[in-house]
Amino acid sequence: MLDVEKTKIEKIAGIGSKMAKRLKKLGIQTVLDFFYYFPIRYDDFSKVVSIAELKPYQTYCIKARILDIQNQRSPKKGMILTTALLSDKTGSVRAVWYNQPFLTGVLRKGEEFLFAGKTEYGPFGFFLQNPAYEKAESEAIHTARLVPVYSETEGISSKWLRKKIYSLLPVAEAISDYLPEEVKNSQNLINLNEALSKIHFPRSHQELEEARRRLAFDELFLLQLKMLKIKKEWQKHKAPLINVDVNLIRSLVLKLPFKLTNAQRKAAWEILQDLQKDRPMNRLLEGDVGSGKTVVAAIAMLAVAKSNHQSAFMAPTEILAIQHYQTLTHLLIDYDISIALLTSGKSELNHKKEKRGELIKKIAKKEVDIVVGTHSLIQSNVKFARLGLAIIDEQHRFGVRQRALLRERGNKANKEVPHLLSMSATPIPRTLSFVLYGDLDLSILDEMPKGRQKVSTHLIPPQKRPDAYQFIENEIKKGRQIFVICPLIEESDKLGVKSAEVEYKKLKEEIFPEFKIGLLHGKMKTKEKEKIMEDFKNKKYDILVSTAVVEVGVDVPNASVMMIEGAERFGLAQLHQFRGRVGRAEHKSYCFLFTETGSQKTLKRLYSLIHLDDGFKLAEKDLELRGPGEFYGTKQHGFLDLKLASLFDKQMILQAKKEAERIIEAGLENYPALGEKIMTSGKLD
Ligand code: ADP
Ligand code: MG
Repeated sequence: MLDVEKTKIEKIAGIGSKMAKRLKKLGIQTVLDFFYYFPIRYDDFSKVVSIAELKPYQTYCIKARILDIQNQRSPKKGMILTTALLSDKTGSVRAVWYNQPFLTGVLRKGEEFLFAGKTEYGPFGFFLQNPAYEKAESEAIHTARLVPVYSETEGISSKWLRKKIYSLLPVAEAISDYLPEEVKNSQNLINLNEALSKIHFPRSHQELEEARRRLAFDELFLLQLKMLKIKKEWQKHKAPLINVDVNLIRSLVLKLPFKLTNAQRKAAWEILQDLQKDRPMNRLLEGDVGSGKTVVAAIAMLAVAKSNHQSAFMAPTEILAIQHYQTLTHLLIDYDISIALLTSGKSELNHKKEKRGELIKKIAKKEVDIVVGTHSLIQSNVKFARLGLAIIDEQHRFGVRQRALLRERGNKANKEVPHLLSMSATPIPRTLSFVLYGDLDLSILDEMPKGRQKVSTHLIPPQKRPDAYQFIENEIKKGRQIFVICPLIEESDKLGVKSAEVEYKKLKEEIFPEFKIGLLHGKMKTKEKEKIMEDFKNKKYDILVSTAVVEVGVDVPNASVMMIEGAERFGLAQLHQFRGRVGRAEHKSYCFLFTETGSQKTLKRLYSLIHLDDGFKLAEKDLELRGPGEFYGTKQHGFLDLKLASLFDKQMILQAKKEAERIIEAGLENYPALGEKIMTSGKLD
């Protein structure tokens, strides 16, 4: 028996180097890959009907004898038609194939075959068009069953794959199952080899379902297991044990100009619990825009500073870093903590300019407690004397490498790694977080601070556009500022899609020549973008026209209208993020959605934005309506490797998580087959 997992396909009879090259395009390189090349759908030809039952424009499978078959030239130039007359006890029907003259040699007069395909209607009545055919006495694989249909590539047809995989089925027997019996039993799953053969050639819908369930479970389970393994390995490191002074924390909380939400309290508490262990925290703080993540981070940093350790707080842009620096300085003003800002352009300590080199020296000598900065923080010359906590804001904006580099800023001599807190403003349904961030612990801010005003959201029909402009004009005259978001940068072939450049020009020259208008888009250099954002914040523009790049975390409290062109081209979660840019201060704020689409489905989707104000609920809805691929960050997670598992199947996600946790608990080393499987299957980031 050949080794299914390693045997290269070139070793299989009938596959030469040319074919192997084509198969490689489909990701098939070993025999096992064939089995994991799952059908994209199934044609249900399981019911064999009699000819008398046929109606036009439907798919059928019949068993019939060939009364006559011949080739003829089609009236269309260069085409050869093969037509056959097929009959059974109940009647006869014509079948037609195009440009396959060899068929007269295969389908011989007098013989009986199964035929499966669609009926069409033509000048000579109705006929079977291009039906699949198969000898009636052999086991059917192309007809008379649930027939697997595969995604094809040039030179490799679905039919070819079906035949090849069928011929390899006996080999599937040898595929060993890595899933422990106890998991299979408790989850009621069939064996792997059985699943891999049934997913291609199920004898019934039930068999197909069993196969799907087993393989989908595996995808989620292996992913979870991999993440938990990473998590466990991370926890083998030592981290500085932070002595949390509860009274001090309480004093800060009492001093805040607002009452913490329960969600903030809970998150802060979870973080403080983690910090008091000598195992490194690796936690994700997830909360909608404006849910108040910064103050939670500040609480943690205060605890760390007062336990004689440093914190590094990394943000994706200079403006965000400056914003955080100012917030923290303000919040922690009574605590005698030294706070620094380090970006490529600025270096400050306690609100005084400090020479870059000097600041870096002070950080290394532990004369600074908290350093807020950008990517500058992870440059090799920046070394912390006692890094206790590393915080990453808008974590999806950083790569794996950058996150790792921040962790490595600590003192290597004592082999400690800092506690790590990642923050994200992209609300993701909880079960999806388990799949995406299984290696992290989660704290979720699912509650907005009280008194936060609702942004009044409207879907504006095209004929009301002038009214919207009038409204905007009034807002500007009141001193407010306006965001205009467009789906594209430049005009493109995509008819009717608004581009930021064209919109900018139109607003500047035709609609609001009296106002100052800025333009921001992704093709600009980082510096340029930050400058424009900063100018907007400083009221140098009345209107900012931008693509989706507009900074997630930047606060422009004076902005009161968010106008979104081509709203149908954005996901709900993203639209909600845009909307979160306004309503950040006392001014009553508005979000205007423009769309040219007449599609009811799209309009309905956009309407949910009017009624829903909760990022998590919108994210859930988005996932439901648009699928996971649209979520930011999901692509880089190899997420689309999930071929069969559904991200809506909360039940299965939770079960897979539970089983994976049990295995890790019991020690992955006791399950060598599983250990090997997760080493070899898919990559994580
Ligand atoms: P985000 O989670 O988007 O980072 P921020 O931390 O920037 O949110 O907080 C947004 C605003 O809400 C800030 O001005 C902050 O001072 C304020 N804020 C935070 N927590 C509360 C609270 N519990 N009650 C009222 N306002 C709060
Ligand atoms: Mg923030």
